[in-house]
Amino acid sequence: MPNGALLAGRLLKSFADDFDCFSFFSISRTPFPFMPEPTIRPSSFNPPAFPHAQARALLLGVALGDALGVPVEFQPRTARRQDPVTGMRAYGTYNQPAGTWSDDASLTFCLAEAMTEGVTGELFLLFVAENFLRWFRRGWWTAHGRLFDVGITTADSLKRVERAVALAEAGLRGERAAALTEASLRGERDNGNGALMRILPLHLWLTHAPEQESAEFLLVRNVAGITHGHVRSTAACWLYLTMAHWLAQRRTPAGAYARLCEDGSAMLARQGVPQEETDHFAPLLAGDLAAWPEDRVRSSGYVLHTLEAALWCLLRHDTYAATVLAAVNLGEDTDTTAAVAGGLAGLYYGESGFPDEWLETLVRRADIEDLAARLATTSGRTEGPLQT
Ligand SMILES: [Mg+2]
Repeated sequence: MPNGALLAGRLLKSFADDFDCFSFFSISRTPFPFMPEPTIRPSSFNPPAFPHAQARALLLGVALGDALGVPVEFQPRTARRQDPVTGMRAYGTYNQPAGTWSDDASLTFCLAEAMTEGVTGELFLLFVAENFLRWFRRGWWTAHGRLFDVGITTADSLKRVERAVALAEAGLRGERAAALTEASLRGERDNGNGALMRILPLHLWLTHAPEQESAEFLLVRNVAGITHGHVRSTAACWLYLTMAHWLAQRRTPAGAYARLCEDGSAMLARQGVPQEETDHFAPLLAGDLAAWPEDRVRSSGYVLHTLEAALWCLLRHDTYAATVLAAVNLGEDTDTTAAVAGGLAGLYYGESGFPDEWLETLVRRADIEDLAARLATTSGRTEGPLQT
């Protein structure tokens, strides 16, 4: 038997052990909902230079928020009202030491690592997916070398991606890069916050210039779509990254939010997001988020709830610490809400806003700072487009 066929046979056998090949193939033929054009095409995207301080503030901001929320994840808001989190705690939900961050920060770091490789286009997406799989299968970029927290859609999509890429590599079906986004889950019910929680490093690559907008939106859609293929997840990531852009331009949270409300719906429409999808974001973009009473703010794992809750916390507080603690004390998906809020607050308040005792407790702080330095070193040097 030729080597290729032998490999293919082994692959198919291993898939059959825990995977229904037939349902996979039927799902992979389903077009991307509402947006049927190919999700991957040659990139004309050239990342800009960015300051080292932004890379540090962003990565540390996500990780600190995540670590504050980990010990109380899934606990209800009523528990936090009786016993509010005021700093780094140990143990709790996952029995982890204080300062331990989870999948939110891990996958953020995996994306950032791919951004240090100096490539864009399809090769970049393959590096991102490979890094996610290194985390998922081998615990790479986990706090203590072991994965203890993974979302259902992320896990299911990564298994599909793993198999689709393996099939493509064995010459059995399709191209590797196309396999990435074709394999991910893309139903309306697959809109957990798993793409939003790890998307922020892309902020460093986006200019939001009108002539770049389509290429940049496509990049966000492709990166989000490795695990979360529905247009709502992409739209949430795009609005979040736009908010990050205005904050990095030194607009206040209120000013950045006002700008987001002004442009948000039209921005999504320009990128082909259908009106019925944009309508889901209408309450968020109505301009009155800061005035919402707490009981209107949901903190579940649904991507829209997470985006609303994170921005609500950012708008109602005036320090990094107060913003992320408010996010944790909303309860439920505490680590992700705080990671999403913490990334933006980190960008706006900068590293000087991080309490020293939190930084001292943060697991693998030196590694995170090294990653930020490597990210900044490759800043502006990434060349595109590259084809696999
Ligand atoms: Mg988590």
